[in-house]
Amino acid sequence: MSATGDRQIAHRGRVWSAIAAAFFLALAGRLWSLQVTHHEHYLALGERSGVRRWPIPAPRGAIFDRNGEPLAVNLKLYSVAADPGCIKDAAKTAAQLSPLLRKPAREIEQELKQPPGVRWVLLKRSVDEPLAAAIRRLRDPGLIIVDGWRRVYPQRELAGAVLGFVGADGKGLAGVEAGLDRRLSGVEGEMQVVLDGRRPGSRDQIPGLTQVRKAMVPGSSVVLTLDVQIQAIVEEELKAAVEAAGAAGGTAVAMDPQTGEVLALATVPGFDPNDYRSYPRETWVSNAVAAPYEPGSTFKLVTACAALEEGVMSRGETVTCEGSRRVGNRTISCALHHGSRAHGTLDLDGMVVESCNVGMATVALKLGADRMHRWARRFGFGERTGIEIPGESPGMLSPPGRWPDIQVANIGFGQGVSVTPLQLLAAYCAVANGGRRVYPHLVRTIRDAAGKVEHPPVREGERILSRETCDHMKRVLERVVEEGTGTAAAIANRRVAGKTGTAQKAQPGAGYSSNKHIASFVGFSPVDDPRLAVLVVIDEPTGSQYGGTVAAPVFRAICERALTYLRVPPDRPVTEQAAAGQGYRGSSNEVSPRRSRGA
Ligand SMILES: [Zn+2]
Repeated sequence: MSATGDRQIAHRGRVWSAIAAAFFLALAGRLWSLQVTHHEHYLALGERSGVRRWPIPAPRGAIFDRNGEPLAVNLKLYSVAADPGCIKDAAKTAAQLSPLLRKPAREIEQELKQPPGVRWVLLKRSVDEPLAAAIRRLRDPGLIIVDGWRRVYPQRELAGAVLGFVGADGKGLAGVEAGLDRRLSGVEGEMQVVLDGRRPGSRDQIPGLTQVRKAMVPGSSVVLTLDVQIQAIVEEELKAAVEAAGAAGGTAVAMDPQTGEVLALATVPGFDPNDYRSYPRETWVSNAVAAPYEPGSTFKLVTACAALEEGVMSRGETVTCEGSRRVGNRTISCALHHGSRAHGTLDLDGMVVESCNVGMATVALKLGADRMHRWARRFGFGERTGIEIPGESPGMLSPPGRWPDIQVANIGFGQGVSVTPLQLLAAYCAVANGGRRVYPHLVRTIRDAAGKVEHPPVREGERILSRETCDHMKRVLERVVEEGTGTAAAIANRRVAGKTGTAQKAQPGAGYSSNKHIASFVGFSPVDDPRLAVLVVIDEPTGSQYGGTVAAPVFRAICERALTYLRVPPDRPVTEQAAAGQGYRGSSNEVSPRRSRGA
């Protein structure tokens, strides 16, 4: 809004205040006169006449995506209420209202019979204009029709779990609607009417004495970081993948790795906030923030970065993987590939590229419990990111004092720790942007009813990694896609860095499930100046359970479409080999020879 516009609003505000003040003075005089000069008469009328007040509901602020696309708006409706003291014949009024409100007459009559002094009974919300007009035509002085609104989500299921919904009383109950309820809700006003109590039997409003006693203030509108186009791409690809894999569900998040702005946040199955009651309660909250999972191999990033920063693996130092290793009285194993679990001799880079559990467990044991814990915390695991929607989980990272060696080894390859998708993607963003932590957030601006725009402060990301470590890890993660477990994530004309994850699902109190897995892929592109970071998590795929097979192709599809939409120029010449999808070797433990979705 322009400065002139602001001044006009301020000016209008002053004029309005002056009118209101003059009105209050007049009203006070009138009440004084009523009370003093007609004292006996007024007392005789008691509470049943005099002044009637009712609320003026404030419209809720709208929610927009980053480009101004409406995500939550208000449909103008009405509420029907009654002043029981002014209803002359409750049975008659109830009989007239019953067919209009589609409510039994007896029920309405009960509501109209209130103790003296009750001047306001809400009979029905969300009444449309024709119905409101029909009720006005009854000319019953005891009936009051006030403005009301119904929240409408024009994009339906799109971003449902991000937006959340409001209850019948207009209060935000989930998602952004709940997280920003204080800003989105306006301040209710109050209407006042002086009734004519002078003529016996009359309860009519005195013309000219119906006035706003307190003006309502509409709620602030909110512009999210979300981009509906990217959200639609992510939801479409995720939904198709969950169906193709016969999976229980899926989650995907897209973020700007430089800023932590969430561009898309999707959960399948989703829900339509216009009709939230028809969907299971679990769908109302986004799994990306509320459902921690055991990350598996994607967590190897933390171990590898810690090892580089702490210098526990010297350049060229190798570990030999024979497929399994005993730690205490337990055995840890690598996944089966080419009929064998043994990865042979690998350096730190090779362990990430080939996703070797034994190697990473050995590195984690070199780091020890305290350093592993400190690095996990430095990346943000074990604490909430602070995203503006309720229900966020901090994940699970127990204090290091209680970690036996087997737990240190397990955490090294992503077992025995649980993370939210949002936390994991934020960790990869730190590597992508050259070492600064990012704080995922959903709100860009908040604009109040007077047009004042506020940019909520974004927490400054502290440096957690050196640029050298990040540059090195980016090359390693690029190799994962070029020659390792993530070849199905490769895009012909773009450089992509990322990591696969395949984790057996932990069963509460019953160890690990042998047939329930979580397959994931997380990565970013372009590698040198990343514009987009994406995580895809597929819950309980029924065919292949590997992240490289089930999740990597979804990542590729999302990245390819979203980067084109964002007009990010390609950063790799298309070779004949890449165009034919031959970059893929299938040399690892997490890639099955068949890719379910085109490469
Ligand atoms: Zn291995």
